[in-house]
Amino acid sequence: MASRRWDAEDDAPKTKVTKENFRDSLKIFSFVQPYKWSYIIGLVLLFLSSVSFMVFPFMFGLMMDIAQGKSKVSLSLENAGLILVVVLAVQGFVSYARIMLFAKVSEKSIADVRLTLYRKLVSLPITFFEKSRVGELVSRLTSDVEKLYNTFSVTLAEFLRQIIILVCGLAFLAYTTPKLALIMIATFPIIVVGAIFFGRYIRQMSKDRQNQIAETNVILNETMQAINAVKGFTNEWFEVVRYGRANTRAVDISMKFASRRALFATFIVVVLFGALIFIFWEGVKMVQSDAISAGQLVTFFTYTAVIGGAIAGLGNFYSELVGTIGATERIRDILNMPSEVEVDDLPLKGNTRLKGDIEFRDVRFTYPTREDIEVLKGLNLTIKAGQKIALVGMSGAGKSTIAQLVLRFYKTRGGEILADGKNINDYNITDYRRNMAIVPQEVLLFGGTIRENIIYGKPGASDAEIIEAAKQSNSWQFISSFPEGLDTIVGERGVKLSGGQRQRIAIARAILRDPSILILDEATSSLDAESERLVQEALDRLMLGRTSIIIAHRLATIRDVDNIYVLDDGKIVEEGTHEELFGMEHGIYSGLARLQFESEVRSPKS
Ligand code: ADP
Repeated sequence: MASRRWDAEDDAPKTKVTKENFRDSLKIFSFVQPYKWSYIIGLVLLFLSSVSFMVFPFMFGLMMDIAQGKSKVSLSLENAGLILVVVLAVQGFVSYARIMLFAKVSEKSIADVRLTLYRKLVSLPITFFEKSRVGELVSRLTSDVEKLYNTFSVTLAEFLRQIIILVCGLAFLAYTTPKLALIMIATFPIIVVGAIFFGRYIRQMSKDRQNQIAETNVILNETMQAINAVKGFTNEWFEVVRYGRANTRAVDISMKFASRRALFATFIVVVLFGALIFIFWEGVKMVQSDAISAGQLVTFFTYTAVIGGAIAGLGNFYSELVGTIGATERIRDILNMPSEVEVDDLPLKGNTRLKGDIEFRDVRFTYPTREDIEVLKGLNLTIKAGQKIALVGMSGAGKSTIAQLVLRFYKTRGGEILADGKNINDYNITDYRRNMAIVPQEVLLFGGTIRENIIYGKPGASDAEIIEAAKQSNSWQFISSFPEGLDTIVGERGVKLSGGQRQRIAIARAILRDPSILILDEATSSLDAESERLVQEALDRLMLGRTSIIIAHRLATIRDVDNIYVLDDGKIVEEGTHEELFGMEHGIYSGLARLQFESEVRSPKS
């Protein structure tokens, strides 16, 4: 069985920092632009706090010399202590202000990133959502945004801080105790190269270990899920052997990992402390020969520790920054995609009111995700404004596809679709779609109140309009029977509405929208007779005076439409009223109708 690896790092794209992607990723900083002053002040404070931090080691050494009476500066121990307290206070204040400033910048700019991404995602065409695995995309984007957040809030600042400490520390040492500093700098490369090499190796081993443990978990999961099969085949022993083997492998890898870790620790202890001891040895000899004071040695050692810490930190922050460059790549990819619609914060004011004439001229269509199948092969149909037409055909014939093309979810591959005599692609897409409403097969209501669900058809509608739409759609009876009325919460945490009730809410929504073109995807599952009557009545009211395209599943409901189109093999093969088509001998429609009516006679609905 295929084993999956649960390794978060494997998901991240392997990023090499090149000039291009580095420059490109800097573009993400445009999100910081509005808050740049906060960021700049934050950076200044960061500089101040890093530099003032460097005062401590200096003061330690100085105080040591004062205590021994060897100080060249005339300063009492008390006053030196006082200076430390003042520096400490400055540190406290500066740190607080800096953290707050960076928090403000990162929270606000990341909120902007999120909103911009969201706005982009909802404005992308349907084809995008079909081509991507949306769930995966969302979870990755979430973690990418999180990485970016960390960079804005902590990583970048820390990275800069470590550099400041490193540079200031080295400069100070080179100035005050040049000889010792030189010895220290000479030992650096060995330690740094060794640590980088070992570090990378150990990280790889740690990953291997995680993968191996994940693999044992996969076996565990598989076994639990297929426990019936395991027991049915009495293969418990087989699974135990399989699990045991993976488990042993995990131990082997873990032990190898442990031995390398131990080696690494030994290396650090021996080399690092060896170097420190060596430097200390040299230092003490210099104190003995009065080349430097004991205080200077203390200062030197404290600085060395701080610098060492900074170097260790730099490595971590550097790899985090590289990770962020990878993360911004995905975010930028999405942001660079062409939107289908422009989304503003206000509902757009439309100015095109269509009459509702629709014409398909020789339309050919293939789904972008399934290039090999031509769904529509030169389809022609003409619907006059205000007509009710029904699309009939076997499942998969292309009825929904026609509806989706009318909605401009996809572009045709050949031919054209006209609305009021003009190619639909020549309208502004939002203007165009504002003339449409859909009553889908399965009505999905948003979690929220009934009012929110109805008002979706026309944001900003008044209560009077909502109630009128509810009445027109035969929903008012049941809505007003709820104690909370329009404010009743629907969905998981509210009342559960029946299929018929949900449909009537969708009809109310469509009535409020007042479209000139209506698309009805008829519900396949039948409602009880009373519910069906209420829905049908509401639909009849909704369809009045609008161009209505009905995707018909049950022929009984479309007997009185103006025209029925029968689809087969991507074309219209029959066209006419119910009477005309039903009367045709050997017609597809008459055949389908007979089958359905017969089965309905045999199993009459209650
Ligand atoms: P109907 O509504 O008549 O049942 P559809 O219009 O849904 O038929 O489907 C027509 C054909 O297009 C079918 O072969 C179906 O598999 C295919 N199809 C439908 N939707 C998609 C899609 N989003 N991506 C790829 N193929 C699709």
